[in-house]
Amino acid sequence: MQDKIPYKIYLSEDEIPRQWINVKAFMKEQHAPFLNPATGKPCTKDDLRPVFCDELIDQELDCTHKYIPIPDEIVDFYKMYRPSPLVRAYVLEKALGTPAKIYYKFEGNNTSGSHKLNSAVAQAYYAKKQGITSVTTETGAGQWGTALSMACAFYGLDCKVYMVKTSSEQKPHRKEVMRTYGATVIASPSDTTEVGRTILAEHPGTGGSLGCAISEAIEVATHTPNCRYVLGSVLDHVLLHQSVIGLEAKAALDKYGVKPDLVIGCAGGGSNLGGLISPFMADRLEGKTDTRFLAVEPASCPSLTRGKYAYDFCDTGKTTPLAKMYTLGSGFMPSPNHAGGLRYHGMSPVVSKLYHDGYIDAVSYEQTAVFQAAEQFARTEGILPAPESSHAIKAAIDEALKCKETGEAKTILFGLTGTGYFDMTAYKAFNDGTMTDYIPTDADLQVGFDSLPKVEG
Ligand SMILES: *Cc1c(COP(=O)(O)O)cnc(C)c1O
Repeated sequence: MQDKIPYKIYLSEDEIPRQWINVKAFMKEQHAPFLNPATGKPCTKDDLRPVFCDELIDQELDCTHKYIPIPDEIVDFYKMYRPSPLVRAYVLEKALGTPAKIYYKFEGNNTSGSHKLNSAVAQAYYAKKQGITSVTTETGAGQWGTALSMACAFYGLDCKVYMVKTSSEQKPHRKEVMRTYGATVIASPSDTTEVGRTILAEHPGTGGSLGCAISEAIEVATHTPNCRYVLGSVLDHVLLHQSVIGLEAKAALDKYGVKPDLVIGCAGGGSNLGGLISPFMADRLEGKTDTRFLAVEPASCPSLTRGKYAYDFCDTGKTTPLAKMYTLGSGFMPSPNHAGGLRYHGMSPVVSKLYHDGYIDAVSYEQTAVFQAAEQFARTEGILPAPESSHAIKAAIDEALKCKETGEAKTILFGLTGTGYFDMTAYKAFNDGTMTDYIPTDADLQVGFDSLPKVEG
């Protein structure tokens, strides 16, 4: 019989989810709490208030409500670019000659070019509602900074973005997009903060890291009246907002009675992966399915596959609360030739816990293999993928090729988190054949592990 499933499964505007799904409320055991590094005690709401917006703290600490309503104002913003398409990768399947059925949820259909807008708009909304007038943040590749700039323009908030210096040099046009939306963009580490000056003194000429940029953004937020820090990944409330991806994907698949055997996401800080898998993981945790989940990371920044499950700082300047997560150590700096994004030293505590408990598998790939997958995807499915997203593409292709060997017609769903238009320097290196791979040695990783704080648990 002919497959009746269309190339794209669209939902209507009315089918945009009205509630996020809180995967923590389905988990039998919660991840360990944030610790206040000064006291070694679990963080209280008051510890977090100077840094984060109140409502986001409540969401961060909520382990009981399975569903959390999405305010109408946020749904209205979502209507500008959601629902996002769920695509059946017929052309890629044919090119691979696989019996597998491959679907991808495409989150690159907005100007910021990635899924990050899903949380940016929520965070800006709650900041505005609380009477906050400005926010600070970090950005690596630039997608988060762009998404937040868009959301801040919409809600009339001032926005200051600390952008990892190597990225700001590689992607000058990203900066101009953010400035067009009204944000101030500063290359990090900078001399505008105390922590930035310290890092510059210790590592002159450093290209920076997400961890450094986070330290700078937090310092400014906590020293500026009516200002808060917002983060584009890692934290539980970001993962909650990103559950809109998984909820829409599931609603679209449900229309055709399709259940994925395998759900794949690239993993930087874990937010798109966590958001995509949330409703499917909830079903698995309730014993309704045995869906497999796969996190994909770069071999050059392998926090799940080679990191330690330990308490660590979320930033290089060691100013944040301690999170129990898979980490390479906040002192870890990925090799400068690494162009594929996903360079954060840690991993979402929720994703880390699910991985630790055996609900998620992880795999890592070298960047040239990832770009080969990106090229194959662009030439078949037509979308120029972000390097980050291409990690998930690579894994989906490999899994589909395994199905070709075994003859299994598995259903694979992966997250296509964004587009790669601002990554042409990396694509150029790939096209020119000058892209290199670097897998950190155990000794390289030890440098990062040595920076781990000494904490029990
Ligand atoms: C930020 C980003 C990622 C990685 O972040 P997660 O929090 O792990 O989802 C992946 N893809 C794109 C396009 C991104 O912008």
